[in-house]
Amino acid sequence: MEIKSVGVIGAGQMGNGIAHVFALAGYDVLLNDVSESALAAAPEVIRGNIDRQVSRGKVSAGERDAALARIVTERELTRLGPCDLIVEAATEREALKHQIFAALTPHLAPHTILTSNTSSISITRLAAASDRPERFMGFHFMNPVPVMQLVELIRGIATDEATYQTMVGVVAKIGKTASASEDFPAFIVNRILIPMINEAVYTLYEGVGTVSSIDMALRLGANHPMGPLQLADFIGLDTCLAIMNVLHEGLADTKYRPCPLLVKYVEAGWLGRKTNRGFYDYRSGEPVPTR
Ligand code: NAD
Repeated sequence: MEIKSVGVIGAGQMGNGIAHVFALAGYDVLLNDVSESALAAAPEVIRGNIDRQVSRGKVSAGERDAALARIVTERELTRLGPCDLIVEAATEREALKHQIFAALTPHLAPHTILTSNTSSISITRLAAASDRPERFMGFHFMNPVPVMQLVELIRGIATDEATYQTMVGVVAKIGKTASASEDFPAFIVNRILIPMINEAVYTLYEGVGTVSSIDMALRLGANHPMGPLQLADFIGLDTCLAIMNVLHEGLADTKYRPCPLLVKYVEAGWLGRKTNRGFYDYRSGEPVPTR
């Protein structure tokens, strides 16, 4: 099946990136968000991000303008129904995602493929909130979407082969590489990455190291391009906590218990870069460790 139009739900950091890569690859994109301010800001945010690629010579100004012209913002979720492919990238809350798929279902074209960019929630359970579990998949992009090469493709229990193959084709067309994962909590990347971040927060909580020493240790000692706490700020601490909770509940193993310090940062609203404060304080422009 050929995909031409893509509806993206959620114009946050991931949704904007997903709209950006699809538009650059020639797809028509309808971008939706419940937040008027997120939706109003999206075209400028995306332009700024594509401009960075233009300045590095990766995209021409003409390609940028053509891509931006393919992105239309849409307040009304149900108008995304006729799109060939839906990519849901709203806040990581299962009840919210169920609501979105349930509200969209009566308005879908019969051929529409539904996908979720969820970092951790069961694809099989989300698919059950729609009328088409056989045309439902996990489509998990990495952050920042325009930069990161990998996409995880996750089949729910009912996903059919034609849908999977269509999505393999879409991944190739947007210039990414797919890794197939079975539908278990947090899939592959986050099953490994987020417990490592949680362990880094425990290391901080127990006073083994400071924010700076922990991040330096992993950058220089394990050759990670970013320290785990810097990465946590980048992902969003609320997202990290939500994924740990999914692992803890879904696998029922105490080794996945979220660190109380991570919970405290989230309760304080210190969610990382998106709120200008997390393990680092970004308000002065220069990241300053908060512990
Ligand atoms: P974000 O907070 O930046 O953006 C989420 C957006 O969803 C917000 O703009 C919010 O207004 C919008 N939203 C909330 N309810 C909505 C609704 N009912 N309809 C439409 N829009 C709605 O979060 P994000 O980091 O972009 O994460 C989005 C999804 O992507 C989550 O499922 C997350 O797990 C997943 N994800 C995140 C990362 C990451 O590194 N941040 C990586 C891969 C996947």
